[in-house]
Order: sequence, then structure tokens, then C-alpha cells
Amino acid sequence: MPRTPNLDSDQREAVDVLASAERVLLASHVRPDGDGIGSEAALARVLAKLGKEVLILNPDPPSERFDFFTEGLTFGVFQGGEVPAHDVSVLLDISELSRCGDLGESIGRAGSRKMVVDHHIHPGDEWWDHAFVDVTASATGLLVYRIARSLGVELDRLAATAIFASIVSDTGWFKYSNTDAETLEATADLVRCGVQPFEVYRLLHQREVPEQPAWIASLLARTEYHAEGRLALIALPKSEVDVGERVDSDFVLDVLRSVETIEVVVFVRELVDGNCKVSLRSKTDFDVNAIARQFGGGGHRKASGATIPKPLEVARQLLVDATLADLGATATSEESSA
Ligand code: 5GP
Ligand code: MN
Repeated sequence: MPRTPNLDSDQREAVDVLASAERVLLASHVRPDGDGIGSEAALARVLAKLGKEVLILNPDPPSERFDFFTEGLTFGVFQGGEVPAHDVSVLLDISELSRCGDLGESIGRAGSRKMVVDHHIHPGDEWWDHAFVDVTASATGLLVYRIARSLGVELDRLAATAIFASIVSDTGWFKYSNTDAETLEATADLVRCGVQPFEVYRLLHQREVPEQPAWIASLLARTEYHAEGRLALIALPKSEVDVGERVDSDFVLDVLRSVETIEVVVFVRELVDGNCKVSLRSKTDFDVNAIARQFGGGGHRKASGATIPKPLEVARQLLVDATLADLGATATSEESSA
């Protein structure tokens, strides 16, 4: 059994609040990813073990690819109105209520205490009552791991698998610079709790339809290089929205990063509502969070995103201009397509 984590006073207080809560609402961000769903699923199982009533409510449903660790849990999708009565609302993998859409407003109106369990850079004032926040943590799932250990709860195979899925989702299977000793130590412990890494890999990434490789190829064929190969960008129009929904964008962004000269990669896609969703990744010290912030988004220094309410061509050009400016490159640099 690993040692109990050292917590600061805010984190200790957050754990105490969870220990004494009776009815807890868990929520995450729009289009929840592996870290959002994994950390919710794990915390739900940990709190249920302590006899708490737990309600998970998100703006969007979880992807079916997470079915192997969400089994037996109910992931409610917010339909508007007021959220059910509860004493503590816990926002996971998010510290901006606006990232929960209308659900955020409803949680804000509820007479519950608000807690944030998160690892994102937070701009502006702290609006919550309790925080278990560490921007250096590789994943929110790792924070749930610390919470579970602090509460003295044994992790069963499904809770451990949910945390493992969170961690591999946000570390790119331990490839990214956020992978540290604590992450690897926690992961070893999760394996002792019954997680089979190869099986999680198969379930997360090897259950695609036969069209998947062709979709990836069609996306990669849209690669443009800027600033002498320091920036790679893919812009996907609305007509291809289905492809954008069905391909794992992290996979595509990883392929772009494989090019030696690349420092920044950008994937911008037009959604059916006309907005553009952008994902930004950095391979160096380049701060993509600073770019995402310019468009009302956020995230981490090396992985950020935003939603831009502009047509694709306008969003694409704004992103190129903003990135080239921060790279110290000029817009007259050679531009080429793959
Ligand atoms: P992704 O590109 O995978 O959607 O997101 C990368 C990172 O940026 C994640 O940590 C995610 O939470 C954050 N992120 C993505 N989109 C937004 C956004 O619109 N607003 C904020 N604040 N963060 C975002
Ligand atoms: Mn995360």
C-alpha cells in the first residue's frame, strides 16, 4: 500500500468536506474526455464505497469508448432547469463554470458548497468554496487517486481502471512532459489493484471501425506547414464534421508532432453549429495556453483548446497569425502543404 499523500491545507479541507458530505454532485466539462470521465467515474466509486449518494451530471454524454470503466454508473446529461438537491458539487477537470455550459449556471444557482478538483491553469478569481487543485498534476485522475488514498479507500479494479484511463488520456500514454515519478508510482499501484494496461489500450484505441485509417489519412492530407515547418495546422470544414467527430484528435496531433522541426500543432474543425473547435499542442516551451486564452479558451502550457465563433477560414487565419506572432515568425514565411 503506497504512503498517504502529503496534502496542503486546502486539499486537506477538501478531503474532509468530501468525507462528511452525504449527497454529492459530480460534473465535468463539455465534450468530456478520458480524464473528465475517468476522474468522475473513479471519484463516484470511491464516494459510493463510503456510503455517499453520488449523482454524475454532465453537459454531454460520455463516449462509448469509456464503457469498460463506466459500467454500472449512470452518467446523466443535463437537460436544463435546476440540478437535483445535493450538499457538495464537485467540478472535475475544470475550474471555469462556463466550461459546463448551462449546467454551470444551474450548479452556480444551487445552494450547495462548490468544490473544484482540477489541474488546469485558472485565470481570474477563485469562485469556489473548496479546492483540490494542482496545476503540476499530470491528470485530474491523479488528484482523485490522492483523494482516495487520503480517504483510506481501497481502489477496486474498476475505480483503478478509471484513474488509469484518466492518466493515459492526459499523458498520451506517458509520452508528454507532465509524466512524473508520482504518476508512474500511482500507475504501478493501479496495476496492483487489477488494471491491465494492454487491455485498457485495446479497449480505448483498438475498437475502431474499418473506415478509421482512411479517415485519419484524409485528415493528415490536409496538413499545412508554416514558419519553416515550426507550425503544422489542419483545418477541417463542416462538410467533414463526421470525420472530425470520429477520429481521435490526439492521435492526429501526435503524428504532426513527429516531424522534427515542429514546435506547435493546431487542429481546427468547424462544427455543425458554425463554431470552430481548436486543439493546440506544443512540443517545446512554446505556451499554447497563451494562444488559447486569446480566443477565450484555456488548458495547459502544452495542451490547450478553445471554441472560436467564426467561420473556418477566419478562425484558421487568426490562429496562424497569433501563433506566428508568438513564435516570432513573420506571416510572409513560406507556407506549404503536405
Ligand atoms: P483538447 O484539445 O483535447 O480539447 O483540450 C486540450 C486541453 O485544453 C484540455 O486540458 C482541455 O480541458 C482544455 N480546453 C479545450 N478546450 C477548451 C476551452 O474551450 N476552454 C478552456 N478553458 N479549456 C479548454
Ligand atoms: Mn485533464
